[in-house]
Amino acid sequence: MNKVNILGVKIDKVTIPEATDMICEMLKSEGNHTVFTPNSEILYMAYKDDKFKVLLNSADILTADGIGVVYASKILKNPISERAGGFDIACKVIERISNTGEKLFLFGGKPGVAELAKENLINKYPFLNIVGTRNGYFKPEETDEIVAEINKTGADLVFVCLGAPAQEKWIYNNKDRLNCHVMMGIGGSLDVFAGVVERAPEKWQKLGLEWLYRLKKEPKRFFRMMALPKFGFTVLFKGRKFTKEDK
Ligand code: UDP
Repeated sequence: MNKVNILGVKIDKVTIPEATDMICEMLKSEGNHTVFTPNSEILYMAYKDDKFKVLLNSADILTADGIGVVYASKILKNPISERAGGFDIACKVIERISNTGEKLFLFGGKPGVAELAKENLINKYPFLNIVGTRNGYFKPEETDEIVAEINKTGADLVFVCLGAPAQEKWIYNNKDRLNCHVMMGIGGSLDVFAGVVERAPEKWQKLGLEWLYRLKKEPKRFFRMMALPKFGFTVLFKGRKFTKEDK
C-alpha cells in the first residue's frame, strides 16, 4: 500500500528522498504536476470541507508534513515511516537542481522575503537558477498578471508559499495556465530560507515537538492549533471508516 487514507485524504507514504526523486523526475517530464504537503490542521480542514478534500486529492504527490499525520497513519495501521515536510523536501530539491540549470521561481511571503530567500540560497548555491520572485500579498484581480510573470520567466518549478489553504487553492485554480512542470505548496518555507523565521532546533524536531516550538515562538497560532486534538479524536473514532472505503 503506497498511500494511507487519512479522513478521506490519500497521503503518499513517501520519505523525503523518495519525494525528492519523484519531483526531480516530474521536472523532466511533460505537463505540470502539483505537490501538497498537508499537516494535521489541513487534513482536519479537508475532513470538514469536501471541496477542499477533492482539491487536495488532485495532487500528484501528497506528503505527510508533521508528526500528527505520521501518528494518524499508525493509528490507522498503515504507517508512514517518517514525516516528509514541505520545507525539508524543498531543501533537497534545491540541492539536486543547484547546478542543473532548472529554473526556480519563488512566490509568496511578505514583500522582500522572497528576494531575501533568493539572496541566501544563491550565497549557498551560486549556480542555482532562480529566475524570479514575487511576494504573496496581492488582490485576486492581480492573479492574471502573476501567472503571466511566472510564465514569462520560463520557470520549471514554482514554490508557492501563501500558507494553507490559500496556496493549495491558488495552485489548483491556476495550474492549467502555468507552463511550469512542478508547483509545490510549501507554507512558510520562504520565511525560513530568508532567515526571518527560525526553524525548530533539530532536537525538538526529532522529539516530534516542532509544533510546540512554533507555538512558543508564535503564540497566536494557539487557536489554529485547536484543530490538532480534534484531528486526533476524529482519526481515532472515525478514521477506520475511510480506510475501509479503500478496500
Ligand atoms: N502569506 C502570503 N500571503 C498571504 C498570507 C500569507 O504570502 O496572503 C505567507 C506568509 O507571509 C508566510 C506564509 O504565507 O510566509 C504562511 O506561513 P505559515 O507558516 O503560516 O504557513 P502554514 O503553517 O500555513 O503552512
